[in-house]
Parts: sequence; structure tokens; C-alpha cells
Amino acid sequence: MGRRPRLFVVSGPAGVGKGTLVSRVREMRPLLGLPVSATTRAPRPGEIDGVSYHFLSDAEFDERIRRGDFLEWARVHDHRYGTLKSEVDACLKRGESVILEIDMQGGANVVRHYPDTVRIFIEPPSWEVLVQRLKDRGTESEESLAIRLNTAQEELKHASSYDVRIVNDNLDAAVQELELTLEKYETE
Ligand code: 5GP
Repeated sequence: MGRRPRLFVVSGPAGVGKGTLVSRVREMRPLLGLPVSATTRAPRPGEIDGVSYHFLSDAEFDERIRRGDFLEWARVHDHRYGTLKSEVDACLKRGESVILEIDMQGGANVVRHYPDTVRIFIEPPSWEVLVQRLKDRGTESEESLAIRLNTAQEELKHASSYDVRIVNDNLDAAVQELELTLEKYETE
């Protein structure tokens, strides 16, 4: 059966484990493209410029918008984040499927550019588990935690509009489900 590279958007509330899921699938599939996003937020300890994100100043971000370099960009939690078109196109051209791990708003913009995007929503097993995971992560201030929980509540309301929903309860099972989803859409 033929296989074609596809564009997948993975969304879900902060703290649900999207990042871990996507990196586990990447380990299983080294040929998966993962374009590096740009952001105006400051790097967290351990994050590397050009690997975690392209960390840009406000002025640099404005300039890239003006040049039309973004496939989508959005303001999330007081900072701007965006996907560079050039990074996505380069992956697809090489025959690599792309997973974009972005918020809901950004995902909708991507679909406008690439209508056959597959939208995947990662859900927590329960609201209580999500709150606990976010607290355990320990990277957020009180204020930032409150903002993220607020956004999460909004995002969970839209889960039913996604092509695929995966509950991240058992990590191994969720990884396998995500992997099977990629497989299914690449070969359909
Ligand atoms: P964080 O600051 O925790 O790394 O990410 C905050 C939020 O920004 C997450 O919900 C993440 O999905 C979103 N995000 C990361 N990169 C992009 C991007 O390129 N575009 C958009 N729209 N959102 C992004």
C-alpha cells in the first residue's frame, strides 16, 4: 500500500502530556518531521534556541509576520508562538509526515492552509488528574497556572470537533494509539 506524508496537528490542554507523547512517537519513527516553532517567550532552564524553539524578540517576530513567514501564529498565555511555513514545507517535501503540537486557535489556521490536516486531541483521564499534573510539573507560577487551567477548560469543550481523540491515561497505550493513528492516515 502507498504511503504519503501527512500533516498532523496535536492539541490538548497544557499538562496533558502532548510533548511526551510526541517525543515518544518520534523515537519510534525517526523520519517524522518536527518543525521548530518560533516564540517570544523566554527560554526555560535547559531549553535550547533553534531546538526547543526559535526564541525571537518582539521586533524579530513582527518582522517575520510582515514577511509572511508563518503558517500560523497565535498569542498564547501572553506570548506569541508561530509555525514557520518553510520548516513544514521542507519536511513534507522530504517525504516526512509532520506533527505540529499547537494550541487550538493555531490548529484552525493550519487547516485553512492545508485542508487535509488530521487534527488529534489529547485528553486527560479527568480534570483532577490534569490539575495535579500541571502542579507537579512545577514550572508555572500561581498566575501562570491559573491562566493555563482557564485555557484548558475552554479547550476541553471543543474536543468533539477533532478527527481523533486520544486519552492519555496510560502513556504506553497512548503512544501506541498515536502511532496507529499516523499509520492509518498515511496509508488511507
Ligand atoms: P509552552 O510555553 O508551554 O512551551 O507552550 C505554550 C503553548 O503554546 C502550548 O499550548 C503550545 O501548544 C503552544 N504552541 C507552541 N508552539 C506553537 C506554535 O508554533 N503555534 C501556536 N499557535 N501555538 C504553539
